[in-house]
Amino acid sequence: MLERILAENGIAVTDEQINKFALYREYLTEYNEKVNLTSITDPDGIDVKHFADSVLLLKYLDIPAGAAVCDVGTGAGFPGVPLLIMRNDIKLTLIEATAKKLVFVDSLLEKLGLSARCVHGRGEELSRLPEFGGRFDVVTARAVAALPKLAGYCLPLVKKGGVFAAMKGDPSPEELSDGEKALAKLGGKIEKVSRYGLNGEKRCIMTVRKK
Ligand code: SAM
Repeated sequence: MLERILAENGIAVTDEQINKFALYREYLTEYNEKVNLTSITDPDGIDVKHFADSVLLLKYLDIPAGAAVCDVGTGAGFPGVPLLIMRNDIKLTLIEATAKKLVFVDSLLEKLGLSARCVHGRGEELSRLPEFGGRFDVVTARAVAALPKLAGYCLPLVKKGGVFAAMKGDPSPEELSDGEKALAKLGGKIEKVSRYGLNGEKRCIMTVRKK
C-alpha cells in the first residue's frame, strides 16, 4: 500500500526503507496496546494516514541536503521519523510536549538505527531559547494546532530564509487569513498552499517562508 501510493506520487523507495517502515508499523502497533499513541491501528491505515501522509511532504517541499529540520508536536514521530527514513542526510530534532510519546520515539529511533535529537517541551517555550530559536532550515508540524497559534511558536524556530510547513486536513479560509496575519507579524509569508487528496481525504500543506 505504502509503495503504491509513493510510486503514484513519483517517490522512489528502497527495500531498506520499506523494511524500516515495516519495523515502525510493527513497533507502533505493539506499543500502542500499552500506551495510547494513535487511534489508527490497522496496517493500511498506518501506511496511508501516517507514513504516506508524512512522506508526501517531500513532493511538495524541497528540503535541502543536510538541512536542519525540526518537527514540532511530533506525537508518535509524524512526519519527522518517516522523513528521516527517506532522507537520512537531514539533521532532525523532534519536539513533543507529552513525555510518554517521546519515550516511544526515542526507542523507535534506536530500533530503526536512526539518529535524531528528541526534546521534551512545548514549542512556545523552546522557541524562545537561543539553542532552538532561529536554528532550523525547515520546521514541520502536522495536526498540532490552528495556523495562527502554530505560527507563534513554529516560525521563531526557523532561520531567516528558511521554511515552515504546516500540514493540515482542510483548513478554512478564516484559518488561512488569520494565519497569514499572524505570520506577517513574525516576518513570515505563505509561499504556497498545496491541496491534494490522499485516499479520498483532503490534505493541505502550507509552506511559509521566513523573510
Ligand atoms: N504530529 C503528530 C501526527 O501528525 O501524528 C501528532 C499529532 S497530535 C494530534 C498533536 C501532538 O502535538 C500531541 O502529541 C501533542 O502533545 C503535541 N503538542 C501540542 N501542542 C504542542 C506544543 N505547543 N509544543 C509541543 N508539542 C505540542
